[in-house]
Amino acid sequence: MGNVPPGRSEPARAYSAAVRVVERLAEKGFTTYLAGGCVRDRLLGRTPVDYDVATEARPEIVESLFPGAIPTGKCFGVVRVRLDSEEVEVATFRADHGYHDGRHPDSITFSDPETDAQRRDFTINALFMDPQHSDTIIDFVEGQRDLSERIVRCVGDPATRFKEDHLRMLRAVRFTSVLDFRLDAETADAIRAQAASITQIAAERIRDELTRILTESPRAGDALTLLHEVGLLEPLLPEISAMRGTLQPPQFHPEGDVFEHTVLMLNEMEEPSARLAWAVLLHDVGKPPTFTDDTDRIRFNRHAPIGGDMAEAILRRLKFPNDDRDFITACVRGHMRTMDVPRMRRSTLRRMVGAPTFPVELELHRLDCVGSHGDLDNYDRLIAFQEEMASEPVLPPAWITGRDVLDLGIPEGPGIGHWLRLAYEAQLEDRFPDREALLVWLTEQISG
Ligand code: ATP
Ligand code: MG
Repeated sequence: MGNVPPGRSEPARAYSAAVRVVERLAEKGFTTYLAGGCVRDRLLGRTPVDYDVATEARPEIVESLFPGAIPTGKCFGVVRVRLDSEEVEVATFRADHGYHDGRHPDSITFSDPETDAQRRDFTINALFMDPQHSDTIIDFVEGQRDLSERIVRCVGDPATRFKEDHLRMLRAVRFTSVLDFRLDAETADAIRAQAASITQIAAERIRDELTRILTESPRAGDALTLLHEVGLLEPLLPEISAMRGTLQPPQFHPEGDVFEHTVLMLNEMEEPSARLAWAVLLHDVGKPPTFTDDTDRIRFNRHAPIGGDMAEAILRRLKFPNDDRDFITACVRGHMRTMDVPRMRRSTLRRMVGAPTFPVELELHRLDCVGSHGDLDNYDRLIAFQEEMASEPVLPPAWITGRDVLDLGIPEGPGIGHWLRLAYEAQLEDRFPDREALLVWLTEQISG
């Protein structure tokens, strides 16, 4: 248990906490089950992210039975219970009424398990499990059939369900991709018909769903293709949609157009961080607007810096935190530098390898190669250089300080920075064995 990161629940303990919550409520005579995603995941043999309990007991009763319980969504009848430092969400069975903002119900009424199943998004998410009776499944929506046939299907009429809450359209793509299921045809048609309304959803929610799709899908490239097929890509990321049909020079890109190249790379990722996944998605976003085919071959001049600006605008629109935005944008902007690795000065290489973005940039480069010509020479060079540098700091503290330069007679002002840069460059080039030798050289440069 010691190796569970703080803030993350330990799966077995989270499960037993949820079961204890069920038991305590059931003891008092309230029908209570495990509900939703955790039931789906347990039946699939996956570890649930969190546990939800659904009960007949009203929120006030839940609060009174579990000291320290926090009513989180009181208007939805949801109470967060803490037990053994695990959190369990307890929701009273309910029906949702009237969605006027395209996301939330206007009101709710407390109800019974069957109506509670009807308000849930997909049949595979609408199952209940009774842990007190050998995990009996209570299924009002044929969710077990869909689970065994691996289909994501709306509960009820898909068009109505997506009109109520537009976010469900993205959730449908997420569950299909993450679980490696199929999307029911009628459900897919309903998304296609109202995909444009996805832009009414808060940017942060869209960002989080897209990030989960990109990082949790075993084949994130196929997920991107599915987003396109159901019509969600164009309204959400028109810049990525524009990569479709943007041809590339076949000698470097035998795999096809820019979209196909990106899909291949996304499919090759293995448990990527969110930053890597977004860097991969966006790395060639500058290609469609820079496409030229008027000389000897197709070119995308300056597509990396232009793509960097575009990535920045996209991430701003999706309300990414500044540090993530800067990180991902730097990866996009710099992704063509790897071409110059064989000719790079040692100091430039050291700056590149020493940058905090480097591990992600390196993996981005590997995927870029694997997703196109397959030539890993520069990747191998970077790995070799990294190994060569393993025993010393890639970007060591500077031997020469501003004080030294002042002492050599340079007056306060921009001239100091010039000499400091020159000295650090020489140090990174390993041209001198120690500070003394570097200082002698610098003195000569300044007086010469
Ligand atoms: P995961 O936690 O892995 O994302 P989940 O299915 O548990 O998947 P949650 O967002 O935790 O998803 O929601 C728990 C349950 O609440 C879902 O399984 C579903 O039954 C219901 N639910 C969540 N969001 C919606 C929604 N937008 N519309 C209808 N029902 C929803
Ligand atoms: Mg959940």
